[in-house]
Amino acid sequence: IRKGRLLDRTHARHYGIFYDDLVNAMRAALPENVRFIAGRVNALEAGAERQRVSILGQGDVTARLLVLATGMGDILKRDLGIERRFVHQRQSLTFGFNLRPAGAGAFRHSALTYYGERTSDGIDYLNLFPAADVTRANLFVFRDHRDPWVKALREQPKETLIDTLPGLVKAFGDFEVMDKVESWLTDITVAENCVKDGVVLIGDAYQTSCPAAGTGVSRLLTDVERLCKAHVPQWLASPGMAAAKIAAFYGDPAKLAMDAHGLQLADFRRRLTIENDLRWRARRHLHFSRRRIMHGINRLSPGFAARLRGLKRPRLEAAT
Ligand SMILES: Cc1cc2nc3c(=O)[nH]c(=O)nc-3n(C[C@H](O)[C@H](O)[C@H](O)COP(=O)(O)OP(=O)(O)OC[C@H]3O[C@@H](n4cnc5c(N)ncnc54)[C@H](O)[C@@H]3O)c2cc1C
Repeated sequence: IRKGRLLDRTHARHYGIFYDDLVNAMRAALPENVRFIAGRVNALEAGAERQRVSILGQGDVTARLLVLATGMGDILKRDLGIERRFVHQRQSLTFGFNLRPAGAGAFRHSALTYYGERTSDGIDYLNLFPAADVTRANLFVFRDHRDPWVKALREQPKETLIDTLPGLVKAFGDFEVMDKVESWLTDITVAENCVKDGVVLIGDAYQTSCPAAGTGVSRLLTDVERLCKAHVPQWLASPGMAAAKIAAFYGDPAKLAMDAHGLQLADFRRRLTIENDLRWRARRHLHFSRRRIMHGINRLSPGFAARLRGLKRPRLEAAT
């Protein structure tokens, strides 16, 4: 929904799983021969033969290859002499909180994406979806983190949301915010000087993701898939783990394409939300009109709409 009007309707399966439950489910599925240690890593040493990971209070682990998947955090990478290049400092703010219907009723939809109403609000979209036994809200915003609106959202989330998205209650139903509003400030950075002996960076540890673009997990899984299928078996087949082997992963065409797509989409979401020059006003109009028209065609003739959807479209316009 945008400006109180329906853009389109999709039917997709929602699994309603919180991240921590998903991670725990994956941990439970590890084969028995995998040694699993949960703990905080406080030091790393990497070299051409053996790598050492020090875990707080649990001693050291050594291995031939170290895969660093520590997300946005920077401390361990710095220990290894890996730096980061800023593509966009303070790119976006993301807020997460849980909702329930006010009173005894239910929400009008099980899931809803509500787009920002004015460019000056800096709101890309509010995603409402079922997770466990609550409705989860993720709000993606391009606004300065020191803006008084940010403080107001944290302190009075319901009032601030209704004020900024006036059509929300009518579209979704009256709501209560159940708990504290969590927030994340995202810099878009890419690791530099990362071709090192013995260590490879994946996911956000290599390149951070703008949550609004929704590419972070696909990028992470692309890295994992490329490592497992195209690189690690070859690296382990010969002695040593010198930087020359690791370089092949960072040059992998599928990885490069996915990372470039993540950066482009992050930039696109930001501009689509806040840019106000003629070009972006026209692009925004086209972007949302296309969705509305496609929805109308789909209602009249689903077969024709499916054929139209199959036509080649710019990749950025097709997403989100
Ligand atoms: C609110 C929000 C919504 C998002 N929505 C989407 C979405 O819809 N789609 C999408 O694709 N992406 C989304 N993203 C982005 C996505 O979550 C990330 O891109 C993805 O989680 C990156 O995975 P990762 O494994 O590289 O890093 P992370 O998921 O950040 O995992 C890194 C892990 O390393 C651990 N760690 C760090 N340092 C240490 C240490 N010293 N010792 C031990 N452990 C350590 C951390 O605790 C963490 O568990 C969203 C992000 C946010 C914040």
